[in-house]
Amino acid sequence: MTTPRIAIVGMAIESSAYAAHRAGERDFVVHTGQGLFDYYPHLRPGSPLREAAEWLPIFQARSIPGGAVQADVYEDFKNRIVSGLSDELAIGPLDGVYFDIHGAMSVVGLDDAEGDLISAIRAVVGPDVLIAAPMDLHGNVSEVLAHEADLLTCYRLAPHEDAWETKERSARTLLEWIGRGEKPARAWVRVPILLPGEKTSTRVEPAKSLYAQVAPVADLPGVTDAGIWIGYAWADEPRCHATVIVTGEDEQVIAEEAERLAEDLWNVRDEFDFVGPPGSLDDAVASALAHRASGRGRPYLISDSGDNPGAGGSGDVTWTLAHLLERPELVGPNAPVTYVASIFDGIAIDTLFHAAPGEAVDVIAGARVDHRVSGPVRIQGVLESLHEGDPIAGRTAVIRVGGLRVIVTEFRKAFHSTTDFDTIGLDPAAADIVVTKIGYLEPTLYDVATGWTLALTPGPVDQDLERLGHTRIRRPMFPYDDFPVHPDLTATVLRGRTLVEAAG
Ligand SMILES: [Zn+2]
Repeated sequence: MTTPRIAIVGMAIESSAYAAHRAGERDFVVHTGQGLFDYYPHLRPGSPLREAAEWLPIFQARSIPGGAVQADVYEDFKNRIVSGLSDELAIGPLDGVYFDIHGAMSVVGLDDAEGDLISAIRAVVGPDVLIAAPMDLHGNVSEVLAHEADLLTCYRLAPHEDAWETKERSARTLLEWIGRGEKPARAWVRVPILLPGEKTSTRVEPAKSLYAQVAPVADLPGVTDAGIWIGYAWADEPRCHATVIVTGEDEQVIAEEAERLAEDLWNVRDEFDFVGPPGSLDDAVASALAHRASGRGRPYLISDSGDNPGAGGSGDVTWTLAHLLERPELVGPNAPVTYVASIFDGIAIDTLFHAAPGEAVDVIAGARVDHRVSGPVRIQGVLESLHEGDPIAGRTAVIRVGGLRVIVTEFRKAFHSTTDFDTIGLDPAAADIVVTKIGYLEPTLYDVATGWTLALTPGPVDQDLERLGHTRIRRPMFPYDDFPVHPDLTATVLRGRTLVEAAG
């Protein structure tokens, strides 16, 4: 056959519908043309996948998690994707679309954003073109997405250490099925479970053993790929729930395996628990001080989980900082060295950049975007250092208040690795306590921590899901409702858009 033509498009963000933050143009990194090739290691010049097809790098926009996307920004990106596909179709037929998404995008005024986007893509490319979508396992699979995409897959690890492997696998299976000249079948099961990622990390049970089954299923004869989407809890839409999909050619095997994985997920539902020791912020501080007093090493990590930008937090919620500033044992003499990351506030940064390190400063900061749980906070201390050049954070200031080192950035930024601290002259290993807006610890912080509390702080990504008060998710849903009868975990089997008669 002739070299297949595959378009690359996508839009990826995880958005909390409970965040006051709105994701705009500046939040996204847009890749087109050569830049899009450079983004994917598996599509570098000379790589087998690159050589096997004519890849058409149309448009991909990507953001760290945040709030809902502004409607006009979404429409603009969607139009660029659709018109890019039309332009390529004017040159020649397309064989595939590589649709790179996260799966938990919220758009202001729109339900099922990825469903809307794939419908627009399908309307342009027609029913026969294969669409493959590599996703985050925290994405939601709506009925529309499950019906329009031929090859859906997702990560098998949380933290997502297999992100690139997943994207590479998705490109490979797309090519494989284009080569076969037919559509794969897929078995799709909706599982009525909605849990936070902090209870479903694959580092610990039961997710560890559950997800360990995915690769062996994908390796079975007649099977191409398999995935368990745990879903995204900080949105309130009917598509928010867990999903199992197994793809391949053998309709009976994929249906059986999808139903088996769904049953296994359902059967361990009561075992999901917070990946780290959970507690209130007060509990966390008490544990950190006890840890220090007993000489058990540095640093003690505290996850300020309610405003974790990595899950969609706004990043300027001041609730935790305000509480820490009120603790005499943290701001008084001989206080432990405590890094507090971070809040963003461009106006406060302007003020701080008028001072020199060593000078006394007095600023009001934070809660300009998200003041739902706590207002702006007054920081009176000594300016420790100023930093410029971080493409994400913009300008950054560190203010010393007793033992606290309060980090203020110009723009929204997540401090999720030791490098994020190193670049502003702070070494986490030298701190007694590191407080940062994160959920489960990402690898480098995980490695350096000698103790840890997952503080269940309030905010846009509150880990106490019942505090959020969902009203539009399908009911019943675990863990919010009772299940007097076993839920229906029968697979829907599709080939293209066609429903296949129940194989099992
Ligand atoms: Zn994720």
